[in-house]
Amino acid sequence: HPSRADTFTESVIREMTRLALKHNAINLAQGFPDFPCPPGLKTAACEAVKDDINQYAITWGAKDLREALARRVKTFNRMTFNPETEITVTCGSTEAMMASMLAIIQPGDEVVVPEPFYENYGPDAQISGAAPRYVPLTDDLSIDEEKWKSVFSKKTRAIIINTPNNPTGKVFSKQELSFIADLCIEHNAVAITDEIYEHIVYDGHKHVSIGSLPGMEDRTITIGSFSKTYSVTGWRVGYALADAALTDRIRKIHDFLTVGAPAPLQRACVAALDLPESYYKELAMEYDRKRQILYKGLKKAGFACELPEGAYYLYTDISSFGMSDTDFARHLVETAGVAAVPGSSFYANGGETKLRFTFSKKDETLQEACKRLETL
Ligand code: GLN
Repeated sequence: HPSRADTFTESVIREMTRLALKHNAINLAQGFPDFPCPPGLKTAACEAVKDDINQYAITWGAKDLREALARRVKTFNRMTFNPETEITVTCGSTEAMMASMLAIIQPGDEVVVPEPFYENYGPDAQISGAAPRYVPLTDDLSIDEEKWKSVFSKKTRAIIINTPNNPTGKVFSKQELSFIADLCIEHNAVAITDEIYEHIVYDGHKHVSIGSLPGMEDRTITIGSFSKTYSVTGWRVGYALADAALTDRIRKIHDFLTVGAPAPLQRACVAALDLPESYYKELAMEYDRKRQILYKGLKKAGFACELPEGAYYLYTDISSFGMSDTDFARHLVETAGVAAVPGSSFYANGGETKLRFTFSKKDETLQEACKRLETL
């Protein structure tokens, strides 16, 4: 019997992690740190368990966490959300995205997905029954306005935005987001915006939340997470911010999908939000250094790439190696002992000349990977 599970493949990013383990390779495929999270967060998590915060939190998230999030989002993202009615804590941004799409999409609704895109959005669209309309970024990662206008129509229900972007590192400017906001308003569409890398930006680039732009308050779902900002990808704590009407629907889906995110870790995330402002500066500086290490190593090994504006990936062009992305990724993991993600994972069609490497690793890990890549 056919099933919706037949309409997409398993995650190539997670598959590359399994291949890296099998070949004892350095995993520059899946984006997660191999260094510890801030020590205060570990203490807070242990204390929460000892304090018996071990039963379900309120379905839409522990009250103290929603309140702390509302304060943080007000100062950093310049958006105001009522923690009682407009914030939902989820199992990572992965669940936030899936719950958001299930909450607003009717089978057949069109969803605009800029390409290249984070792998999950493809299956998310399939699972929710959306008809995806892919629209490419130009080669220099900008918006071809005529092309973008032409994919919006009466059928458009939503657009998926991801800034800073995975895999390209693009940080969408305020002007670009205003252009997208105008399209959403004109076509009565919702912007679902994945901002998980919001604190990882370089060279003076500024993160802007499309939900903070005029006219977008009641048509934006902003998704964030503790995973990348605080190096706790295994905790599975993320969130969706939206006006009360959208949040009502998101919460219903979220409740029946997962009941709630891990309660003791929600408590520990309150401690994360108490970290001083300097923490965020240092995080971006650390990643800037790692970005330079891997960039130099990749260049030396013959990869063509640009320094990304944000997030923690280097998106390389491998045309000069004369192999397809999947063959080359396999070759790399088996012979050089370095795992990366084939570019085709980020496209509905295409990406065969691309390979993505993460630099969310210890300096030593990156240096060893660079050494191995030189043997290519
Ligand atoms: N977002 C990270 C990546 O793109 C991790 C993905 C995942 O496995 N959840 O690699």
